[in-house]
Amino acid sequence: MVALMAVLLLAGLLGNSSWAAGTRRAQHVFIISFDQGGGDIIRSQPAPEFKKMFADGAATWRAYTIVPSITLPSHTSMLTGVGIQEHQIDWNDYQPDRGVVQVPTIFSLAKKQGLSTAMFVGKEKFKHLVLPNSVDTFFVGGSSGEIAAEFAKQIGKLKPDLCFIHFAEIDGTGHKYGVGSPEQVKAVADCDAALTVIRNAVKKAGLEDSSVFILTADHGAHPNINKDGTLSSPHGNSKHSDVDIPWVAWGKGVKKNFAISAPVLTYDTAATAIWLLGVPVPESFWGKPVVSAFE
Ligand SMILES: [Zn+2]
Ligand SMILES: [Zn+2]
Repeated sequence: MVALMAVLLLAGLLGNSSWAAGTRRAQHVFIISFDQGGGDIIRSQPAPEFKKMFADGAATWRAYTIVPSITLPSHTSMLTGVGIQEHQIDWNDYQPDRGVVQVPTIFSLAKKQGLSTAMFVGKEKFKHLVLPNSVDTFFVGGSSGEIAAEFAKQIGKLKPDLCFIHFAEIDGTGHKYGVGSPEQVKAVADCDAALTVIRNAVKKAGLEDSSVFILTADHGAHPNINKDGTLSSPHGNSKHSDVDIPWVAWGKGVKKNFAISAPVLTYDTAATAIWLLGVPVPESFWGKPVVSAFE
């Protein structure tokens, strides 16, 4: 009797809470972030794989990231579902003494539901987003090619429920050579080729039919001439060049050839990813699942 009452009480609590388990719509979610792949930077360059997924799936070129439109605060919002006022990661380099983010991440929320998680990233500062026991596999690589190769090596055995992948070099080449420089154009092409490697690996592992890919970016950038005459790609402001980011959903249950017209904010990536996996979206989230993108 006591056990029955406990069950009923628990059911009642779950029933009244935003933590109630949801429907699972995908077995695997792969979020791929192209650092500085916002604004018109990918849109204006050859990126055939990205653009094919954009055209075939549900997508918009004008989702918005946060202000300041910089890497670590923005990715923190993307992966925690809340704004900088809430997550307080307002720095942009790796500072080990500052520890880890103080709000739940999509990885910690997924782990709570017994799901498996992985991060393959191009910058060490993502360690600030790794709460204890929240990320089963964490790999920091250099180029997108190196990251994709490691992903391809591991995906067959990991088969993660939730996986985040980050490519750094569109940002690196932008800062060094400028927006739209030949070096950045090559970086876009290299990241696009790495996306193909990722997709082929997912297919080979037999996961494609049960997966959703979300392609996005942390920010764009604006062209700048430095004092010494060289070019660069600063970002951080609220102009479209800096805050516009692509947002593409592709895969299981995603509408085909669908232009998303509802506003999409970077917090929505977090909400959409866990909603797809049947993980309850906490009331504390600022983001909402982009339901219009799905059948
Ligand atoms: Zn960035
Ligand atoms: Zn940057």
